[in-house]
Amino acid sequence: MDVKLFLRPEEGGENQEDIYDVIIIGGGAAGATAAIYTARADLKTLVLDKGLRTGALGMTGKIANYPGVPGEVSGAELLKRIRGQAENFGAHFVQDKVLTTNLRGEVKEVQGSKGVYYGRTVIIATGSMGRTHTVPGEERLLGRGVSYCATCDGAFFRDQEVAVAGNNDEAVEEALFLTRFARRVHLLVQTPELKASPDLAAEVSQHPKMEIHLATRLREVLGEQQVESVRVVARGGQEQVVPVAGVFIYLQGGKPITDFLDGQLPTTETGCLMVDEAMQTSISGVFAVGDVLCNHLKQVVVAAAEGAMAAIALQRYLSGRDKLRPDWS
Ligand SMILES: Cc1cc2nc3c(=O)[nH]c(=O)nc-3n(C[C@H](O)[C@H](O)[C@H](O)COP(=O)(O)OP(=O)(O)OC[C@H]3O[C@@H](n4cnc5c(N)ncnc54)[C@H](O)[C@@H]3O)c2cc1C
Repeated sequence: MDVKLFLRPEEGGENQEDIYDVIIIGGGAAGATAAIYTARADLKTLVLDKGLRTGALGMTGKIANYPGVPGEVSGAELLKRIRGQAENFGAHFVQDKVLTTNLRGEVKEVQGSKGVYYGRTVIIATGSMGRTHTVPGEERLLGRGVSYCATCDGAFFRDQEVAVAGNNDEAVEEALFLTRFARRVHLLVQTPELKASPDLAAEVSQHPKMEIHLATRLREVLGEQQVESVRVVARGGQEQVVPVAGVFIYLQGGKPITDFLDGQLPTTETGCLMVDEAMQTSISGVFAVGDVLCNHLKQVVVAAAEGAMAAIALQRYLSGRDKLRPDWS
C-alpha cells in the first residue's frame, strides 16, 4: 500500500486524515509487536524503519528461545513474520531513517530522510545497536561464534571452550552463566584486576571452569567460517592464540539509539530512555520500548511484551483516559 508523505503545516499539510494515530520509530521486535496491537485496534499505524537487517533481531543469526517458534529460526525470518502479522492487520511499514523529531506538540512531527510524518502518538523502539565493531574479525564472524548475549547463545557452546571479553558486572555474570554449558570459559580482562562487584569477582575467581586472563586485551577474532580462536595480548606485549569456539564481547556495551531526539527526552547516565509503568516517557503520548530502555533484559520476548504494553497504554491515552495502565494486578 502507498504511504503518503505529508506536507508540513506551513505547506498546507496536517489535515486530520494526514495524521497517523501512532508513528512507531523502529520496526524491530518491540516496534513491530506494538504495531500488531495498534493496527489490530484499528489505529492508523505507521512504522518507520531503516531496514530489515539493521537492528539486533534482524541481524541475529539464529533464535531458538522465542515462544511458539520451535527449532532455530534466523532473526530476520522471525522479524518478517512479526511484521507480516502487523501488516495483515493494516499497519504500514516504510523503510526510512528517522533524522529528527519534534515531540512536544499535540501532533508529533517525525522527520525522516524521505519526508515528514505526523502522528498523535509516537512509540520509540530504535533498540541499542550503537556499538562500533572495534575488534578485527568481530563483525565478519558475528552470529558465527561472535555474540553479545550468553543468555541467547550460550547453549550453542555445550562442552566447548569460549572466551568472554569485558570487565563489568554484565560481562562477569554472562561468563558465569556460560559455565553451565561450556567446558572452559576464558575471561579476558583488560585491567590488572577485576572491576566487577566484590561478590561476583569472588565467585568468578573461584569457579573451577573459569580461566581469568588479567591485563589482557582481545586483539583479533580468528576463523574462516566460524570462530576458531582469539588472539590476545597480555600487558608487556606477550601474544597468545587461545582456541575457542565462541567469543562473547562486552567491551563497550550497546548504546541506545536516541540521536534523532536531540535531547527532548531525559536519559540515564548510560543514555537509556526512561519510562513510567505504562511505558510512557516524560512527554505525554510518547512511549519507549525495547532495548532503548534501561533495566531491561535484552531478549526478543521482553521487547515484544513491552511493545504490547505501550500499544495498550497508547489506546487509553488516545481515548482520553487518565489512567494509562489498566489494573493488571
Ligand atoms: C547478536 C545478537 C543475538 C541475539 N540473540 C538473541 C536470542 O537468541 N534470543 C533473544 O531473545 N534475544 C536475542 N538477542 C537480543 C534481541 O535481539 C533484542 O533484545 C531485541 O531485538 C530488541 O528489540 P528492539 O525492537 O528493542 O530492538 P531491535 O531489534 O534492535 O530493533 C530496532 C529497530 O529500530 C530501527 N532503527 C534504529 N534507528 C532507527 C532510525 N533512526 N530510524 C528508523 N529506524 C531505526 C532498526 O533498524 C531496527 O530495525 C540478540 C541480540 C544480538 C545483538
